[in-house]
Parts: sequence; C-alpha cells; structure tokens
Amino acid sequence: MTERVFNFNPGPATLPLAILEKAQKEMLNYNGTGMSVMEISHRSKDFEAIILGAEALLKELMAIPDNYRVLFIGMGATGQFDMIPMNYIVDGKIGNYVITGSFANKAYKEAVKVGPTHIAASTKDLNFTRVANLDEIQMSENPAYLHITSNNTIFGTQWKEFPDTGDVPLIADMSSDILSRKIDVSKFALIYAGAQKNLGPAGAAVVIIRDDMIEKSNQNLPTMLKYDTYAKNNSLYNTPASFTIYMIKLMLEWVKEQGGLDVIEKRNEEKAKIVYDAVDASNGFYKGHAEVGSRSLMNVTFRLPNEDLEKEFVAEAAKVGLAGLKGHREVGGIRASIYNAMPVEGCRKLAEFMKEFQAKKA
Ligand SMILES: *Cc1c(COP(=O)(O)O)cnc(C)c1O
Repeated sequence: MTERVFNFNPGPATLPLAILEKAQKEMLNYNGTGMSVMEISHRSKDFEAIILGAEALLKELMAIPDNYRVLFIGMGATGQFDMIPMNYIVDGKIGNYVITGSFANKAYKEAVKVGPTHIAASTKDLNFTRVANLDEIQMSENPAYLHITSNNTIFGTQWKEFPDTGDVPLIADMSSDILSRKIDVSKFALIYAGAQKNLGPAGAAVVIIRDDMIEKSNQNLPTMLKYDTYAKNNSLYNTPASFTIYMIKLMLEWVKEQGGLDVIEKRNEEKAKIVYDAVDASNGFYKGHAEVGSRSLMNVTFRLPNEDLEKEFVAEAAKVGLAGLKGHREVGGIRASIYNAMPVEGCRKLAEFMKEFQAKKA
C-alpha cells in the first residue's frame, strides 16, 4: 500500500488526515520551542495551554455545563471500570449496571470485585442484538449509580435515548460514540471514554465529571485512583499522556472546523445510512446483527451466508483500500467502524464494494 486507505478499524482507529499533517508539521518544533510537543515539560506554559485548551474545547463542543470538569486519566476506559466502583461503591451503596455488551460486562465484573452490585437490565439472552428498553431497567435499593454503555462497540448497538435516573448518578461509558452526536450532558453525573476511537490516539481516558461527584470521590483510596486528585491538579498531578492530549486537542479543533456536533451528527447519520442501506438492499445476503431500533451509527456489524465468504470479503476489501473490516470474534462476520474521522466517501466505497461482492458471489 503506498496510499492511505479507508480505515474501518474499531480502535485505535482512523484519524483525520488534516490533523496527522498538522502534527507532522509541528513535530520537530512546537510553537517555536525548538522541541517537539513530546519533549516539552508538562509543567510548561505551552503544555498547560494544550491541556486547558482541550478541556475548554470539549466543553464548548458538547455544551458541557459549568459545574463539570474534563479530566485526562491514564489506564484507558478499562481503568475507569475500576475507578468508578472504587470511588462510589461506599457506605453500603450498590453499583447498578446495565449489561448490553462485552465492555458493559467487563465494567460490571470489575465492580463485583469492589463491593455490592446489581444488574439493572441485561440483553445477554438476546445475544446483545439490542440495548435495554428504558422500561426494562430495575434499579436496586440504595443505588450508588446506574452504569450504561452508550455504544456497544463489538455488537454494533447504541442507545438512542437515555434513562432518567432522578437523583441517582447516571454514568456512561461513551468510548465509541463520544462527540459523535449531540447529547444532554446534564443527564449524566460522569461520562468517560478511551481516546482511541473518536478523540485521538490511545493513552488517555477522557472523563467528564460533575462537581459533586468529584467531592464525593472516596478519600480512602490511593492518590492515583481518586477523581479529586485529577480535578485539583488539572490532570497534571503526575506526567500525563502529553502527546495523546495534544492530538486530542487537534481532533477537537478539527471537529469545530467541521461545524461542530450539528454537522458531525448529520454526517454520521448519512454515513451509517449508506452502509445499512447496502445491508438492507441485499435480500438477506448481508444480515445485520443489531435490531434496527438499536443500530449503532459508529459500528456497523453484519454477517454473510458463511464464514468462508466473510474471510473472502475482508481480504478482497483490503485489496481495494478498505481496511480493518473483520468483525470481533464474539460476533463474527464484518464490522465497519465509521467514527467521526471516516469520510462519507469511505462509506460510499464500502457500500459499492458490498454490492459488487454480492453480485460476484451470491
Ligand atoms: C474500546 C472500549 C473500551 C476499552 O477501552 P480501553 O481504552 O482499551 O481501556 C471500553 N468500553 C468501550 C465501550 C469501548 O469501545
């Protein structure tokens, strides 16, 4: 391959060419420092501008109210599976979980190690072909929080509306759909996401946290596991993933240049429709995994009539510059991850390829 491909990898995932080029241009000499951003101090004015700039930009783009902070924490989204129960399953409170896929289940299993938990709803019996209906959610007594996974990366399902939990903190893992659509942040007490799907390269989790949740964080924990350590120190208590945070800022600037979430959301709807239309127009040659009402706009999952054809599909697609289409082993088949940075053109090319492949093989 001598040219860039359309990259449908689930994460680490495609990034806009424009920000890779910008990083390349600034690589040897960041902002006149004579050093790359990887070589400057995380305590320098230049880096402070990057990390606070990234927080401000995310707040602007997602319309995050003033009583929230944006934190950058290591250990990825998986680290949040541990930090959340450790900080909030205290005083006999119960961690409530909605299980709608593999990552939701991983988050739940970590909480089980920490304290009392309750499964408020699960779609496991349906092989995770949809998210939970709001009226299926049954919370326990004395809940510490309700945890949901807004987009199920592996199964290709996504919540279209969110539960109203009243005074109970609603916590969401938005690793694979943060910044892909407009949401009402004020419904959530805490939102987190690994950066490497929709926000930049791997290395940090972005945590959007309401002030009262910072205050409530468990003071008996080691320093690096408490949310207030990160909040009090602008995520600079220790050396953060500085290059990742720099790339996140470039990504946020790019989203703003595109026209913000209004434009991004419409584009994501258009992109997903192109691929789902190709599935629906195939007379059953391609079979979507997700129920129509739960279809993810970020990860499109579907099967072919047999595994040999699926292998051939992935290999043939790669030959024409459509990379990373192999599905996760838990679902099999094909998964097209079409995050913010995937252009409409990539989805069109995939839909065309699907038609041609079917015509040859059906
Ligand atoms: C990818 C992913 C994770 C895991 O993220 P890491 O940063 O690798 O820990 C967790 N939750 C969801 C929904 C994901 O898509």
